[in-house]
Amino acid sequence: SGSTVKDVAEYLGVPIPEIIKKLMTLGEMATLTQTLADEAIQVIADEFDKEIEIVHAADDVDIEPTYDDAAEDLVERPPVVTIMGHVDHGKTSLLDAVRETEVTAGEAGGITQHIGAYQVHHNGKAITFLDTPGHQAFTAMRARGAKVTDIVVLVVAADDGVKPQTEEAIDHARAADVPIVVAVNKIDKEGADPTRVRTELTQRDLQPAEWGGEIEYVDVSAKTKQNLEDLLETIQVVADLEELKANPNVEASGHVIESKLDPGRGPVVTLLIDRGTLKIGDAVVAGADWGKVRALVDYKGDRVKEAHPGDPVEVLGFDGVPEAGEFFHVVESDKRARVLAAERANRLKTESIARRSGRKVSLEDVFTRAKSGTSKELNLVVKADVAGSLEAIEDEIAKLPQTEVFAQVIHRGVGGINESDIMLAAASDAVVLGFNVRPVGDAAAIADREGVEIRTYSVIYRAIEELRAAMEGMLEPEE
Ligand code: GDP
Repeated sequence: SGSTVKDVAEYLGVPIPEIIKKLMTLGEMATLTQTLADEAIQVIADEFDKEIEIVHAADDVDIEPTYDDAAEDLVERPPVVTIMGHVDHGKTSLLDAVRETEVTAGEAGGITQHIGAYQVHHNGKAITFLDTPGHQAFTAMRARGAKVTDIVVLVVAADDGVKPQTEEAIDHARAADVPIVVAVNKIDKEGADPTRVRTELTQRDLQPAEWGGEIEYVDVSAKTKQNLEDLLETIQVVADLEELKANPNVEASGHVIESKLDPGRGPVVTLLIDRGTLKIGDAVVAGADWGKVRALVDYKGDRVKEAHPGDPVEVLGFDGVPEAGEFFHVVESDKRARVLAAERANRLKTESIARRSGRKVSLEDVFTRAKSGTSKELNLVVKADVAGSLEAIEDEIAKLPQTEVFAQVIHRGVGGINESDIMLAAASDAVVLGFNVRPVGDAAAIADREGVEIRTYSVIYRAIEELRAAMEGMLEPEE
């Protein structure tokens, strides 16, 4: 898409006047620089007997290669963990407390560096913790196409129980299909009631294993450091079930965890290695930036010569600061890295134009998407002013005929449409429905940028009517 008459002529290897003539016979007066609709391009290609495949800029970015490693090349790698939960339930404290277990375990010097992630060891094996807690960071990465986290630790304060952001975190983890371990925190506090937390979470389908369910719970205190080893043990048990493996003997690839411009050191980029081994001297591309690895620094602040799958590592030698969530990979030469980065920079421009002009998913096109086999699912994020409306709308959605399109609510909540709703929708190709609520803060602007559709209603039946119409391919385009 976005191709001009000139582009199409060049691509098909047909003289420009021929194309213009053909368009005229089809009833279209076209100029050299006019952009053509996909359908028109297809028709022209057919007319000239050329096989073409129309690829959209927004579709082919961020698609990471899938690697086919032979089973014998795979070795176990550390799990990558993100901590989520309601504000003040102790995410930061728990990250700090877990970090300190490494000091008491006798690791030299302990972890003093903050590079965006760190590792601790348990049973002689490493676990990688991402240092930015919360579902916002998690979902922002996912919206860029990066699946970095293997396990979510959901922190719930035993004296406070399940709160709105606890529910958000659950939905965000579920939408990403990442297993959850529950850390019931603050058990040292007076009034702590870990059983109540289990009961409340059971109502959200997180049945504790000790009650016959599937979810592991660990009672902890970030303050007194109680049961932290149990938490690590449990994370490893869950990780074992996931069979996390990678081939270490290839050129490295993975994701950017964070990056900053250091006044003294220049661009400092933390990479998390998914596959392969990163070495000093490697040429790396991450999005529109590239670099030659000048130095590698681990989470303890030590210089290292290489980094392996599951390891976070700070890299010096980049020409700029790629965004968190960006895919990186090692290529054969500096020259190639520079070329790829430049190509990507160009594509990013097209992509931002495509994003501004188009939506990822809208109610209007769900039926077409389902028919064409792209996706039969219609993911919805539903926000309302009162809990009663949420229940009513979910009941009504459940009653809709789910024949061509399957509608499912991936997150619901009381209150204005916020940034986290939008990012979840962006990451999960969802449409946002609001009942007597509006976007708050920067949500509208972010929705625009991410291509997320927001529809707001004041009456439920109107929304249901539109949903039904959309699911049956009968929705009239909006003005
Ligand atoms: P976050 O917003 O989820 O990152 O929460 P913080 O880690 O900032 O903790 C919020 C407050 O709870 C702070 O005052 C912590 O000192 C306190 N806190 C965290 N964990 C515990 C705990 O296990 N026991 C007690 N008593 N207080 C805790």
